[in-house]
Amino acid sequence: MKKNKHQSTNFIRQTIDKDISLGKYKKIHTRFPPEPNGYLHIGHAKAICLNFGIAKDYNGNCNLRFDDTNPVNENNCFVESIKQDISWLGFCWNGNVCYTSDYFDQIYQYAIELIKKGLAYVDELTMQEIKDYRGVWTKPGKNSPYRDRSVEENLLLFDNMRKGFFKEGEACLRAKIDMSSSFIVMRDPVLYRIKFFKHHQTKYDWCIYPMYDFAHCISDSLEGITHSLCTLEFLDNRRLYNWILKNISVSKRPNQYEYSRLNLEYSVLSKRKLNQLVNKNYVEGWDDPRMPTISGLRRRGYTPSSIREFCQRIGITKQQNLIEMSSLESCIRDDLNKNAPRAMAILDPIKLIIQNLPIYFEKNILMNNHPSKTELGNRTVKFSNQIWIERSDFLEQRTENFKRLILGNEVRLRNACIIRSDYITKDIKGNINCIYCTCDLNTLDNKHIYGYKIKNVGIIHWISILHAIPAEFRLYHNLFNIRNPEIEEDFLSNINLESIEIKNGYVEQNLQNAEATNPYQFERNGYFCADSIHSSKDHLVFNRIVSLRDPYKKSRC
Ligand code: ATP
Ligand code: MG
Repeated sequence: MKKNKHQSTNFIRQTIDKDISLGKYKKIHTRFPPEPNGYLHIGHAKAICLNFGIAKDYNGNCNLRFDDTNPVNENNCFVESIKQDISWLGFCWNGNVCYTSDYFDQIYQYAIELIKKGLAYVDELTMQEIKDYRGVWTKPGKNSPYRDRSVEENLLLFDNMRKGFFKEGEACLRAKIDMSSSFIVMRDPVLYRIKFFKHHQTKYDWCIYPMYDFAHCISDSLEGITHSLCTLEFLDNRRLYNWILKNISVSKRPNQYEYSRLNLEYSVLSKRKLNQLVNKNYVEGWDDPRMPTISGLRRRGYTPSSIREFCQRIGITKQQNLIEMSSLESCIRDDLNKNAPRAMAILDPIKLIIQNLPIYFEKNILMNNHPSKTELGNRTVKFSNQIWIERSDFLEQRTENFKRLILGNEVRLRNACIIRSDYITKDIKGNINCIYCTCDLNTLDNKHIYGYKIKNVGIIHWISILHAIPAEFRLYHNLFNIRNPEIEEDFLSNINLESIEIKNGYVEQNLQNAEATNPYQFERNGYFCADSIHSSKDHLVFNRIVSLRDPYKKSRC
């Protein structure tokens, strides 16, 4: 077996290392078991990187298994989106896609085996009664009056359930374990319930469906999973996982290990809650760039490697914590700083006229696409005597630390020339509408590059008005106003109503055909990419992926 290069980096890998050294397994086999009832989110990315990452590093396999035991909330669109997201993240599943429903026949037979062993019974209490009888952890539960039915009666009734002779909620199959167990999950858990609902895979074959706890361990065993990894809320369920596998005639008994869920600041990471954001139109859809879904992050402009890096940085532990948004953002910022080409965009434009250049003045300026990555090449940008600059790059009066254009002072237009602002005009509301300048003609033609008249002035970016392409810029802010909306009962009341800010400005001509998959660094404004849905040749729309600097740093110190 391949030596694990990530040895000992977390307790799960340590367990696997130990199992390998004891010769327990020939091949490590994990699985990622999403329920197709929503799109994947960044928390799932953690589980994906863990399961597929382990399989990759140990030269093992990782199955993709859809946990499709509740057809009511599931559908094939979710199946397809999940497959797409896993592939996009850079992982390949082992063989064909698996479905828990592939094993419905076997799972059913194992239920019969439990009945025959006197370890399962058909209960006719209502769901509410079952709940009431279950008790609380400080108080033992109460046996159902149907608990002591004979094996024959149970077999007949279970068969009747399967044939559709009961209505939904009229009967269910329960394991016969211990109604006074200190672990609530062991108080005769439900194994099968009735649902008259068309299943996306098995259609109308079944009207009874196994519960997650019953189906999961059996599916793991049938697939030869060696390490079944799940989040900590299943800690108690491990007893049931082991109880089921011990009491049915399976040849393989995988072990379950639990790690902490990812919780991310200012986000909810539960499909049920994300679903509400979509259905109540708080966002545009599952792939809204503000959503913490994989498809939302992709549309926003996150790269697969930045998400994998994030999962690597947060690690795998048993500690519950709330991960800072800045830690996700720093992963994409680091990636794009290294890899994204630079381009010029003006988000809040103000007109600037260079008076001493001829009316039809036009000049090609060569610019590097990246300050250090020469392989990204260079491009030509048109310069003329009328340009847009960023409104925030100009001040009428000097303030401390302001290094850009001040009335009466000089600034360098990136790669073009040095200008001095002479006077401004304002509209009736007092807003500046034009800055009139004079160019230092000695600095044209790149003379400054060769040491001619080097002046220590600030640098600003610009776009020639004649050649500018109008563009819409969407700046995103947190979807929630509070750090941990997940724990709030009414999480929707904490939605940030200003989570999107729209600016209308310009980009350089080279971005006319910007594609959604290509991120750019826009000087001073952040990293952006074209929106895959709204951007077109006739109407460019750019999403801000992340700002250039960490905005949280300021507020934390
Ligand atoms: P949700 O509440 O989002 O629906 P879930 O656990 O019901 O979560 P599943 O589709 O069942 O969603 O999850 C598939 C796998 O991903 C499971 O192994 C689950 O433990 C893991 N997972 C889900 N959410 C997270 C998270 N926030 N952090 C880490 N792993 C997660
Ligand atoms: Mg689940």
